[in-house]
Amino acid sequence: MKHVVAVAAACFGVALAVLLLSWTNYFSQLNSSAYDFTLRMAGEVRPASPTVIVAIDEASVSQIGRWPWRRDKLAQLIDRIQAERPRAIAIDLLLGDPSANEADDDALAASISRTPHIVLAAHIAPDGAPGWQKPLPKFQQPHVLLGHVHADISEFQEMDGVNRRIYTAKTSAGSSMLAFSLQALRAAGVNTAQQFERDIQGAKVHISSPVDIRFIGGRHSFDQLSAAEVLNGQTPRDSLKDRIVLIGLTTEGSGDEWLTPFSTQDGQKTSGVEIHANAIDTFFASRAISEASWASMFAGIFAAVLALWGLNRARRLEGLRFYLCAVLMLPATVALSWALLKYGNFWFPFPPLWTALVFVVPGLEVLEIVRVNRDLDAKIRRLSVWDPERNGWIAPLHAGELESEDHMLQRKRLLATTRRNARWRLSTIDFFSDDLVKFLSFNNAILDSIEDVIIVADATGRVVYQNPAAHRLKRFTESPPRATEYLGYLLDGRRFETTGSSYKSVPSHDGKRYYNVTISPIAQSGVVITLHDETAQHELNQAKSDMVSLVSHELRTPLTSIRGYTDMLMKYDLVAEKGKPFLSTIIDESRRLSGLIQSFLDIAYIESGRQKIEITDFELGPVLRDMLAVLGPIAEGKRIRLETPPDSRLTRVRADRVLLHQALTNLVTNAIKYSPAGTAVRVSVSNGNDRIRFQVSDEGCGIPAGEASRVFEKFYRRANKETRDQSGFGLGLAFVKEVAIKHGGDVFVESEVGKGSVFTLWIPA
Ligand code: ADP
Repeated sequence: MKHVVAVAAACFGVALAVLLLSWTNYFSQLNSSAYDFTLRMAGEVRPASPTVIVAIDEASVSQIGRWPWRRDKLAQLIDRIQAERPRAIAIDLLLGDPSANEADDDALAASISRTPHIVLAAHIAPDGAPGWQKPLPKFQQPHVLLGHVHADISEFQEMDGVNRRIYTAKTSAGSSMLAFSLQALRAAGVNTAQQFERDIQGAKVHISSPVDIRFIGGRHSFDQLSAAEVLNGQTPRDSLKDRIVLIGLTTEGSGDEWLTPFSTQDGQKTSGVEIHANAIDTFFASRAISEASWASMFAGIFAAVLALWGLNRARRLEGLRFYLCAVLMLPATVALSWALLKYGNFWFPFPPLWTALVFVVPGLEVLEIVRVNRDLDAKIRRLSVWDPERNGWIAPLHAGELESEDHMLQRKRLLATTRRNARWRLSTIDFFSDDLVKFLSFNNAILDSIEDVIIVADATGRVVYQNPAAHRLKRFTESPPRATEYLGYLLDGRRFETTGSSYKSVPSHDGKRYYNVTISPIAQSGVVITLHDETAQHELNQAKSDMVSLVSHELRTPLTSIRGYTDMLMKYDLVAEKGKPFLSTIIDESRRLSGLIQSFLDIAYIESGRQKIEITDFELGPVLRDMLAVLGPIAEGKRIRLETPPDSRLTRVRADRVLLHQALTNLVTNAIKYSPAGTAVRVSVSNGNDRIRFQVSDEGCGIPAGEASRVFEKFYRRANKETRDQSGFGLGLAFVKEVAIKHGGDVFVESEVGKGSVFTLWIPA
């Protein structure tokens, strides 16, 4: 909004300045020339009025004699014309001085009296004397109309001497007189003069206003007869009948010759009588040219300036195109002026519009430069961020010691410069873009040297980048479709989620390699997927557990026979009383060893994936009852209260029944094992957030925070007294963890040393 107001104000200011300028002398001269030019371009038109000129021309002078002629000759001319029955006769000759021979004047007076519709010319007295130069009183008969033929062009500030306008009336020494042309029309019965007359208290007052003549063309545009022809009776038939006949001098050097807009550069002048003919025609056809008011000029200039500004702002019109448009506006304004003049008799001067263009185009250019410089400065400021703390982009460069001393000095020098001109901006941007390129290649080098596969997808999931490590993948594709599908195609075909998630040991499509896959979001603009090759680790683990389960298997068979035989020795009293304690030790130890082997095999079995978990839908109640039946007596033996949830609150579960039973048994067994007498162990089940949660809480010795996750490792046993007092191999919780993961869930412990622990095992509902 603020911007719009500023632009409007600027355009207003420019328009006003141009308008003021266009009122200077120089400008009005320019406007006048433009006016002439446009009028010439608008072209000639056919005369509208029945005007004909009887010219006292070269031929007449050579035949009859030098001007002035004797007045009886003039009387003869008038009589000849009148004989042809014209509508009116208007004589553009000053008849103010008496003739040498009074009879000549009488002859003319008589002739005038015989002519019913006649107009004579009057002129403001020469040399600034007050009053009018009128015809002799004997010519001013009552039916004679007088009209002024004053063509004082200096009044219009027309310094070029071109006749463009006339005044509808002129006043001198208190007496006003209508224009000759208006009177000629009035004599012919066309009363256009009325609109310039007002009756004020019975007296006629003339309105004096300038009227722009619509010249119909250059000289000789009107029908013209030579006075000699008329006097000789050689006029073509009906050439004067019903016409408005103007009599005037047309000889060169008569002193009554003027430039008109149609006078082309050779300065061909038009006689005064012809100018009157043009004026008559203009009034007759009501085609006086009206001029644009200052308000409409202002509006026009304002619109042009605004249009230029609009062009300049248009995105698609930059540089040369804008200039082209601006230049094209020049002929466009001329064309507009031309059309208005030709078809509307309306003059809208185009030079002020041109001036506006001349001022505004470079002005806009300057504004643009200022704006661009401001933008450049902001960019330079952004590029030059040097803030290792906040990790400006230069910081990694510096940290990577890619910057030399010289380079740093150069930057300091650039940034310390106070004369920040265009050259400075250019070299600073050059400097920083060099840095940027270095920074990018540094980043690229990092990406190139990473062994992990990096795949980047945009917000729509389309793959936009893969690092060189990705190129080494078996099924690498240059431009893959969506990232998740691509990942499935590269690996074992499973569905990957795009939101931040990770997957362990995902086999490649051919099962030959194993990857840890991490999918992390990049702030709202996509995801980065990393594939860390862990084939070696995977194979090692595999080999380890294969080895251990093989060994355990091999141990189980001899152990079974040791137990069998020892049992037999005991049962059938085959050993002397003294040896029995040894036998029972052998039995205890082999039971322990077989327990160890069993637990280990259990884990190894699920881990290896050889044991498929069998998901069924079952009720939890019976499972807990079975568990209670086995563990209840043990708890009682230790005086521990074992609380399970009432049946009604138990839900149905979808899980591997045997594994879940065993995992819960392990948790409750531990709770009993690591709690002192007189405490309580509680089992609870809850359902929510698409998860089923089993919680086993005790009031036992607890686990310190540092060891909370380690207790789930294989063979991990805490080194405290409570643990030492209890037998175990540190495999129970590892088994629980494995079961939880195989179900897509997890297990964790919250504990406080000396107060108790809460183990939570959850699986998806
Ligand atoms: P163990 O056979 O030793 O019980 P586990 O894997 O079941 O092996 O447990 C690992 C270790 O975690 C135990 O040795 C013990 O120190 C600790 N632990 C397990 N359960 C509890 C509990 N409820 N309270 C305190 N310590 C526990």
